[in-house]
Amino acid sequence: MKRKSLITAVIGLAALAGAPLYTSNPYYIHMIGTIMIYAILLFGLDIVVGYTGQVSLGHAGLFGVGSYTAGVLFLKLGAPLWLIIPASIFVTAGFGALLALPALRVTGPYLAMVTLAFGTIIQILINEMDFLTEGPLGLKIPKPSIAGVQLHENGFYWLVFVMMVLSLVVVDRILRSQLGRAFEALRGSPVASDCMGVSVYRYKVYAFVISAGFAGLAGCLYAYSEQYISPNTYNFELTVLFLLAVIMGGRKTRSGALLGAAIIVILPKLLDDLELFRIVATSLAVMMAVGGVIGIAKKMTTPRAMAIPVVGTLALAGFSFWLQSITDWRLSIFGLMILFVVYYLQDGIVGFARGLFVAKRAASTGYVAHMTTGRDAIKVADNTGRIEAGHDLLIAKGVLMQFGGLKAINQVDLHVKRGTIHGLIGPNGSGKSTMMNVLTGIYVPTAGTIEFAGRSVVGRTSSEIALSGIARTFQNVQLFGEMTALQNVQVGLHHSFASNLADVALHTPRYQREEAASVQRGLDLINFVGLGDLVQEEARNLPYGKQRLLEIARALALDPQLLLLDEPAAGLTAPDIKELVAIIRKIRDHGITVILIEHHMDVVMGICDAVSVLDFGQKIAEGKPADVQADAKVIEAYLGGSAA
Ligand code: ADP
Ligand code: MG
Repeated sequence: MKRKSLITAVIGLAALAGAPLYTSNPYYIHMIGTIMIYAILLFGLDIVVGYTGQVSLGHAGLFGVGSYTAGVLFLKLGAPLWLIIPASIFVTAGFGALLALPALRVTGPYLAMVTLAFGTIIQILINEMDFLTEGPLGLKIPKPSIAGVQLHENGFYWLVFVMMVLSLVVVDRILRSQLGRAFEALRGSPVASDCMGVSVYRYKVYAFVISAGFAGLAGCLYAYSEQYISPNTYNFELTVLFLLAVIMGGRKTRSGALLGAAIIVILPKLLDDLELFRIVATSLAVMMAVGGVIGIAKKMTTPRAMAIPVVGTLALAGFSFWLQSITDWRLSIFGLMILFVVYYLQDGIVGFARGLFVAKRAASTGYVAHMTTGRDAIKVADNTGRIEAGHDLLIAKGVLMQFGGLKAINQVDLHVKRGTIHGLIGPNGSGKSTMMNVLTGIYVPTAGTIEFAGRSVVGRTSSEIALSGIARTFQNVQLFGEMTALQNVQVGLHHSFASNLADVALHTPRYQREEAASVQRGLDLINFVGLGDLVQEEARNLPYGKQRLLEIARALALDPQLLLLDEPAAGLTAPDIKELVAIIRKIRDHGITVILIEHHMDVVMGICDAVSVLDFGQKIAEGKPADVQADAKVIEAYLGGSAA
């Protein structure tokens, strides 16, 4: 973390810890405690929503599981706090796994429905299992005691505070580790994640289970905080409120989660009181106007875009003074405010404020300074010694890929010799990219066999194939846009981590060693493709040609035996192409076999050891580049292609 934001965080947390010292009003202490409890849940929910990009409407249910685990363990077994806290976390994580394993096979609206159904089932179960939960009557739980000392309002507040800070640290560490990068990557490009050996399904489930653990901790603390729990609390409204809190506060920030929690706890209370509502509405209008002026001055937004929000908040302020009583309007106003934030501040409040007041992060070159130069970036594929160069690394026989009636690949045989650059050419739509998708498990071929390094590829998942040594780039670049160049390459290095969740949370020496090694190797690879001064730039901000080079660096991070390049020179300028050719040669010289799809004939003819030509899904020629170029069928296909 940057020193400045660390200092801000420490000051903020110290202020929070001291709350019981400035007010003795238990109402406020309880309220701030509730905010912190919700924040714990939101830290976790943000992993699912903000990082992996999945929607969960099941988190109120998970929160309920945590509460009832605590309640039941205390009332039925008289279990102590030190046992109840981890039990709530693990039981809820278990329920999270139960939900995630089937639910995350589907996405989008289906996922929302499955998680929603889960939340409802949990509520029904709590209601029905009255031998454990007392059903609708609910459970009464006293404040906990630690080592025989009974905690009262303040003591419990500090317990919650400590748990919140611990959660904050653990979530932050998870998100900065290889796990966090995997979560973010699968949102940025699922297909690229899988092809980097990071199984999308597995890490979605993982994120969900971790998130459920935090929901369990929050639920447990909530039970003690309220001292009474009943099934009604864990309803649909709460689940939507949680989701809104993440979005309103701002996804992918911990301060956003805290702010979101504060909003959903405080706002309904503010709307109970007309005087307070007037103050809030007026300050909101002032903030919006000031923010709008700054935004327009900084050219971040236009007067037109700001007109509706500014007028809207002014109208709300005016409306607040016109109102005689707020009770009838409460829910409508609450709903309107939420809609407003969700619609106009899509990065949430924290994201919006950051945009206004923090200068755009300049691409830092801090890493480059201490980079070792002259280091050999590519590891030699370790099998080169065992199997002599020249043998077939990849043997595809009779591959057929049918999409409905279309045979995108029709009975194609392909033999790729180890240590060579094998060109794959053909007119547009001839099936080249489809071949690559079949080789990397994105499609399962309709018929045919594919053997790579002596093992069949057909039927294995993309991530398994990637880990077995086939890396690739994509014709339409598939980078993880919101992640830096270095982080993109580090996702490719995911396989080099043996650290588990505990290593990450505790920053064990093993994790620190692996993380440092992945940074070093990531930098070396980025340097290898000549992007040394862009390591900290977000991938989406790179020029197109550089994005293609970054994709190659990321693919090399897998330490592949076979590298598939799908039109790497597309969109590159002439000097860039020259550099690319040199890079591809160097890759081959390191013992990595390359299959190269390319339209620039001079590139293909210049570096390929062998070339296969596809036309309408069929292989029409194969051999040395010069022979293929002179082949009558090839000339015909290309002329026919351009004539049509
Ligand atoms: P190339 O990379 O050689 O330009 P492609 O492999 O992308 O060609 O496409 C070959 C043919 O297969 C095209 O006609 C394309 O429309 C078709 N095709 C590719 N993927 C799919 C798919 N997922 N569903 C249906 N048709 C597809
Ligand atoms: Mg293609």
